[in-house]
Amino acid sequence: MSKTYDIAIAGATGAVGEALLQILEQRKFPVGTLFPLASERSIGRTVKFCGEDLQVQLLNDFDFRQVQLGLFSAGAAVSAEIVPRAVEAGAVVIDNTSQFHYDDDVPLVVPECNAGRIANYVQRGIIANPNCSTIQLVVALKPIQDAVGIERINVSTYQAVSGAGRRAIETLTVQTHAVLSGDDPVTDPDAEKSVVFNVVPKIDRLLDNGFTKEEMKMYHETKKIMNSDIDVSATCVRVPVMRAHSESIWCETEKPVSPAEFRKACEATEGITVLDDLPNLGYPMPLDLAGKDDVYVGRIRKDLANPNGITFWSVSDQIRKGAALNAVQIAEYLVENNLVKN
Ligand code: NAP
Repeated sequence: MSKTYDIAIAGATGAVGEALLQILEQRKFPVGTLFPLASERSIGRTVKFCGEDLQVQLLNDFDFRQVQLGLFSAGAAVSAEIVPRAVEAGAVVIDNTSQFHYDDDVPLVVPECNAGRIANYVQRGIIANPNCSTIQLVVALKPIQDAVGIERINVSTYQAVSGAGRRAIETLTVQTHAVLSGDDPVTDPDAEKSVVFNVVPKIDRLLDNGFTKEEMKMYHETKKIMNSDIDVSATCVRVPVMRAHSESIWCETEKPVSPAEFRKACEATEGITVLDDLPNLGYPMPLDLAGKDDVYVGRIRKDLANPNGITFWSVSDQIRKGAALNAVQIAEYLVENNLVKN
């Protein structure tokens, strides 16, 4: 009989948790018993997995000795409290929150870029999934980094509301109806500004250097994942899109690279789809690409101001590749390389 792995999903009722359940099923991950975990709010609820309705259990009470793998997406504060307990009980944790991103002894992994670091998880028992905006950035940059090296990056993001979780999706729907009915949108108490028919140039809290925490995640995480001193200047913006983040990326390479060379390198890279046919309106857009797995790139062109500059546009489903799919790819690597006991 083939090996199977018992898995706990912390945050199974959330946007990322739901995608984790779907992707484990779609990719036929060898799941033995699956334990969906969430807060008291979800007790009595079920989630669907492989045609079965599974009862949601209380994360706080869960005994992690029952599983080999713990996939966490219940927020950083929850991970800070519960992940050490899960590791102590013997589970290998793949954490989707920002809690362990900067810890030197926790690998921060995007399999297309640095799968080889997964084995280092043994130091702490944890592998961290980067921030969604960083994942799609580094996947798109990997071929250019390998081909000619990168000096610096300027990136502006156009981030979907679902990046802030299930409640933000509902809020955008309710507020859009309100505005179209001539009412004031009731602002979500968690959001400082309404994103309805708007563009909000601030995600997460402001830091002392004038950048936001979301922007500095892109700065620090890109360096850690690419193991390089690449400078990253990011502006992170929330837009009234339901799902899939877009990014306008400018990069200065160490040696010049033509759009044709860049396009060819992207086309040869697993996990990237080039959609760059401007005359026929071929370019990546969130409405077309929500629910897809790849990082899509298009609008590839030479920068007009710098001979070593190249600029392009990228779209990716941040709940799938930006979170759940990346975590499942890490789990697959662990299993394929016998890095987790079963
Ligand atoms: P979400 O839709 O709000 O879901 C949050 C999940 O966590 C729910 O299952 C919720 O359970 C559970 N939870 C919250 N507090 C809990 C507690 N005290 N104890 C147990 N369970 C608790 O959020 P999400 O978008 O899935 O994001 C989850 C994590 O993934 C966050 O850390 C986020 O930063 C990260 N992430 C999200 C995205 C994205 O695009 N959404 C991308 C990358 C990373 P209840 O239903 O019972 O409240």
